[in-house]
Amino acid sequence: MPRILIVEDNKTLANLVAKKITAELECDVDIAYKLSEAKLFLKKYKYFITLLDINLPDAPNGEIVDYVLASGNHAIILSANIDKNFRKKMLEKNIIDYVNKGGVNDVNYIIQTIKRLQKNQNHKILVVDDSIVFRKQMQMMLENMFFKVVTVAHGEEALGILENVHDFSLVLTDHYMPVMQGLELTLEIRKKYSKNDLGIIAISSNNDEEITALFLKNGANDYIYKPFSKEEFSCRVNNSIEALENIHTIINHANRDFLTGLYNRRYFFKDMEEYFPHAMKSSEAFTLAMVDIDNFKQINDTYGHETGDRVISHLADILRTGTNADDLVARFGGEEFCIALKNIAPAQATATLERLRKKTEETSVTAHGGDEIRFSISIGAISTHEDSLDESIHQADLMLYNAKQNGKNRVVHD
Ligand code: GH3
Ligand code: MG
Ligand code: MG
Repeated sequence: MPRILIVEDNKTLANLVAKKITAELECDVDIAYKLSEAKLFLKKYKYFITLLDINLPDAPNGEIVDYVLASGNHAIILSANIDKNFRKKMLEKNIIDYVNKGGVNDVNYIIQTIKRLQKNQNHKILVVDDSIVFRKQMQMMLENMFFKVVTVAHGEEALGILENVHDFSLVLTDHYMPVMQGLELTLEIRKKYSKNDLGIIAISSNNDEEITALFLKNGANDYIYKPFSKEEFSCRVNNSIEALENIHTIINHANRDFLTGLYNRRYFFKDMEEYFPHAMKSSEAFTLAMVDIDNFKQINDTYGHETGDRVISHLADILRTGTNADDLVARFGGEEFCIALKNIAPAQATATLERLRKKTEETSVTAHGGDEIRFSISIGAISTHEDSLDESIHQADLMLYNAKQNGKNRVVHD
């Protein structure tokens, strides 16, 4: 759990901020009312973030900020009077942000900022710049925002890394670089990664509007002119990252079933329409299986729809954990599921499906009244495929029908 230190001599304000933070974030909060107390805390703990009042009884001129930064902690400054000079002076230090400690909105801003920083830890950024000074400067700023950072000196190196490492969220690229310029790099990256997969922010001292437009037309998500203020830099980077996160959330919602979190029918077909012809062409063995809960209507009728839902979710967990990460498990609707066991010999597929059937039969779900509900599933599967995905699924459905006809709680495999 991350730990947060508030250093503020106004006790009412310190307590209010601490209370709101603990209500909204999973974290431990310590409060110090003066520099000497803060020093004791800082000796004892490493903090995720510190919130610092710069006018303390024993440190009236922001001495706390330098102390905290020197101790290797991150700082957000709380101030009652933010004017131009103050802003400039503070931003020269390596702080994350400053906040006007006025009212509720400012506390909310602090909380949003902390949430942002927590999420930033999951993002990796690639910095491409031939100037070592700028590279280092950007790296420091980004690391201060909790991003993971990799820096390279030119476009070829960047492409080489992107060829092998696929978990970058954002590329920050300079324009004027030897051999491959930023614009060309952007074009190359876009051949492989879409705007929704990997963000690109172009950074250049060039004030030429044409270059800006060209960058944006050729796939950059944003553009920053050098020299830039630290604030503009961090806002633009955070905005791009947030936009990516939002897109991923939407895509995830569109592909998944709400009740179980499994993939939905739509995603199943999207994935399989690529996989099916590929596997057929390369003679990769795979198995398609339709899974259906036995006598589910009876469970619903006896225990209610909500308990029925829990049975469905329980089965979803069994199917997901009992298959490999590369396999595709989807909820087709109601109490019916479809599984694609990829790159597997038929005999092994039968064994996997049999294990799923047995596991289901052996576990139970507790109903509201405390009754232990036991249930079973029938599975129809095929490993010898038809010419099309639809026909193959239809065949698996016929096998499922056979399983039901032959007494349920069984696997029928072609
Ligand atoms: P069989 O063994 O032949 O599969 O019989 P069954 O009772 O399992 O199958 P049937 O198709 O007769 O009934 C399925 C029931 O599933 C009917 C429907 O009300 C219920 N159902 C469909 N979707 C959901 C859902 O999302 N949640 C719950 N709780 N019930 C659902
Ligand atoms: Mg004060
Ligand atoms: Mg059923």
